[in-house]
Amino acid sequence: MKITNISWERVGCKLKKPFITALRTLDYLEVIQVVISSDSGEIGIGGCAPTAAITGETMGSLDAALLFLSEKIKGMEIEGLAPILYKIKTGMAGNTSAKAALDIALHDLYSKKLGIPLYQYLGGFSDRLSTDLTISLNSMEEMVEDANQAFKDGFKELKLKVGGDPDEDVSRIMGIREALGTEVKLRLDANQGWTVRDAVKIVNRVQDMGGDLDFVEQPVKGTDLKGMRFVRENIGVPLVADESIFSPEDAMRIVEEEAADGFNIKLMKCGGISEALKISAIAETAGLFCMVGAMMESHAGVSAAAHLAASLKTVKYADLDVPLLCSEKTEKGGIIYNGAEIRFPDLPGLGMEL
Ligand code: MG
Repeated sequence: MKITNISWERVGCKLKKPFITALRTLDYLEVIQVVISSDSGEIGIGGCAPTAAITGETMGSLDAALLFLSEKIKGMEIEGLAPILYKIKTGMAGNTSAKAALDIALHDLYSKKLGIPLYQYLGGFSDRLSTDLTISLNSMEEMVEDANQAFKDGFKELKLKVGGDPDEDVSRIMGIREALGTEVKLRLDANQGWTVRDAVKIVNRVQDMGGDLDFVEQPVKGTDLKGMRFVRENIGVPLVADESIFSPEDAMRIVEEEAADGFNIKLMKCGGISEALKISAIAETAGLFCMVGAMMESHAGVSAAAHLAASLKTVKYADLDVPLLCSEKTEKGGIIYNGAEIRFPDLPGLGMEL
C-alpha cells in the first residue's frame, strides 16, 4: 500500500453559543479536513484546526505546513507507520496541529488496512468513554443557567472555564455547586488566567465552602513550572497541566519538577497519536494520570482523540465535547454521542466518510 495523494479543505460551522475562555472567544469554528489516498483505493481521514493563541498556528500556516510535509511522505509505502511518522516528526519543527492531521489520517488508513477500529489498533483498553461538558466563562448567572441545562441534558461532569476576577470566579464555582448539589462532578480550567497566589487562595476558598473539585487545570502560566508546583503543594486537589505540556519532553520536565498530578493530552498540541502515546507512557511510569482533551477542532480530530482515550489505561478523564458545541455536523461519520456517552461505530479506523 502506497500513499498516492494528500489533499485538504476547509470546513466550518457556527457554534451553538460563543466559546469563551480566559484566552479567547470563538463563535465560528473553521477546521481543515485532510484526506490521504492510497493505491489500494482506501483513504485515511484526519483533521486539524488553527489555535494561534496556544500552538501558534493559523489557517495560513496549516496550509503551508501540510504542503511542506505532504511532499515529504507522498509515494511512501505503508508497510508500517513508524517510518512515515518519523519523517513527519523530523520534517520540520513545531506545526504540531498540521502534523497531527497527517498522523491521524495515517492511523485511520492503517487501522482500515487491518480492518479494525482505531481504538483496537491502539491497544483497546476499553470500548467505552464518556465526556464532560465545558461551561464557558461568563457571568455567574449565565454559567449557572448553562450548567443547569447541561445537567438536565444528562451531563454529570462539568468543566468550568474560570481564570477571571478571583472573587467572581469563587461566586461562579459556588453558584453552580449550590444550584446543582453534590451529584454533579466539577473541575476547573483557568487557562493560565490566575497568579500563583490567587490560584491557591481561590481553590482553597472553594474547597472550604464545599466546592468538592475533581481537579484544577492550568491555573497559572504554562511556562511557570515552579508556580505550578507551588500551587500543587498548597491545594488539596489534583493539578492538571494543559498549556504546560505539548511534547513528551515537556512531560519529562513536569515529572522532574513535580509540577502536576496529570497531563491533558491534546493531539493538536503534541503532533498526533504517536507522540500522545509517549506522553501516556511517561505518565504511567511516573504515576501520573492523563485526560484527553481537544482544541476547538474537527470531528475527525475529536474522534481520533476519543479512540486514543478509550485505548489507554492512564486516561482518567475525557474532555471531548467539541462536536456537542457545534450547531451542525459538517463531517460524516466518526464517534457518536448519546448525551455524555461516546460510542464508536462498528467500522475500521475512525469510521469517518467523505
Ligand atoms: Mg485546558
